[in-house]
Amino acid sequence: MTLLGTAGGPIFMTADRRGVSTAVTYGDRVYIVDLGHGSVERLVETGLVGDTLQSALMNVRAIMFTHLHSDHITEWPAVYMTGPVNTEQGGRAADPILVRGPGNRGTLPRVFPPARPAPPVVSPDDPTPGTHAMTAYLRRAFASDFNDRLRDARWIDHDSVFDVQDIDIAPYWTVDESGVPPTLPRGTRIPVLVDGDVTVTATLVDHHPSAPAFGYRFDTPDGSVVISGDTCPSENLIDLAQGCDYLVHEVIDEIWVDEFTSALPPEAGEALRQHLLESHTTIAQVGTVAQHAGAKNLVLTHLSPAVIPAIRFSKIRQAYDGRLHVGKDLMSLGV
Ligand SMILES: [Zn+2]
Ligand SMILES: [Zn+2]
Repeated sequence: MTLLGTAGGPIFMTADRRGVSTAVTYGDRVYIVDLGHGSVERLVETGLVGDTLQSALMNVRAIMFTHLHSDHITEWPAVYMTGPVNTEQGGRAADPILVRGPGNRGTLPRVFPPARPAPPVVSPDDPTPGTHAMTAYLRRAFASDFNDRLRDARWIDHDSVFDVQDIDIAPYWTVDESGVPPTLPRGTRIPVLVDGDVTVTATLVDHHPSAPAFGYRFDTPDGSVVISGDTCPSENLIDLAQGCDYLVHEVIDEIWVDEFTSALPPEAGEALRQHLLESHTTIAQVGTVAQHAGAKNLVLTHLSPAVIPAIRFSKIRQAYDGRLHVGKDLMSLGV
């Protein structure tokens, strides 16, 4: 099995300023986790999916979203909108691309800091749509184009290109306004999909107040890859990642957080600082996560800031005795 890339396989990551995306491949099948800005261009650059945009989705079997923050989903509207021309016209077989992600959380996140007056609610009749509803809104938003193409250019309907479903978390959690998930019983695996000998499962990670947020595990006959999504150190993720070959984990430099938030007006700076440190995993923490998971390889992704001086990673090596890889755009690693 390979993580994203060209020769020898794959992880492709876009620089932090653009967006986040990782591809896991097995044979000629491609599975994509998140679609941040620039990710489809990067996917085409890998050569995994043919060498023209016309066939960008040819080998893509599934797309999974870890959570619905913009840096992880910005490119979904473009992928959705161009789905028919990137599949059928490219000669892809009839199977729809499975799209899985968070459902409607059912309640707005709390206002932070708590004393602040609540800002106006966007789309008050449906303020927290999940993956399926978000896509239904795209279908309405782009109806002019879709009807043009259906009637004039014989495009197939987008609904037959993508099978979009929310991941059901009802057995595990009712999201509250804090968005902090419960610690699940050890061994809990939220089913996501089975595609022949590739199985994808998930757990609830802690990216509060954004919720639900998922980490994903891919198991194949070649090995296993776990992708953290955005999260602070998560016991659920450590459980999901037990003994995996690759743990692809987000990371934030706590020194950079202090530096840039202290340059902001005090109230805004402190709120942002708290969010970043409570909802992400610092350099000082990520090695311990990988060690507790027993991951053979740790791949840092979604680096904040996008470039972190190498000297800062010595903290990880002190806590973690597996192999450390600092992610770069278009890096590919084989399992
Ligand atoms: Zn996020
Ligand atoms: Zn993010």
